[in-house]
Amino acid sequence: MSLDTQFTEKIEELTLADEDVPLVHELDLDKIPAGRISKLWVVLFEDALKPMTVPVIIAKGIIISGVISDEGYRPGPVVGMTSSLHGDEVNGVRVIHRLFQTELDPESLHGTVVAVIVANIQGFLAGTRGMDGQDLNRLMPGYTLHSSI
Ligand SMILES: [Zn+2]
Repeated sequence: MSLDTQFTEKIEELTLADEDVPLVHELDLDKIPAGRISKLWVVLFEDALKPMTVPVIIAKGIIISGVISDEGYRPGPVVGMTSSLHGDEVNGVRVIHRLFQTELDPESLHGTVVAVIVANIQGFLAGTRGMDGQDLNRLMPGYTLHSSI
């Protein structure tokens, strides 16, 4: 398979029609198929109108470093990344797309890469840094009794 063909197939995988992208309430990496790139809408919460979701792309590799041992299946490390935690900062969206389109090959990947393409949907849609006057980057990871401010 030529590099061009591989690239075209990856583009097609990433440009599925919305109705073809599964909506899930929980991100269970054990249910994600290995050896391919998957797209999901992950539901954060539901209000009276519709679910609030975030778009997620996952590359789950098929290369396994260890064999099945007493410890069981060893799927490799999981790396997570986010973009647009500040809704008006959209450069990372393109970076994630390029990474998945041109750099990540699940057939030669050991482990899993999970990318939340737009972490702050409300800020992204409004073109604002935060949401409801809050800066998510100052609230996370947060503390039990107060924010990180
Ligand atoms: Zn920022």
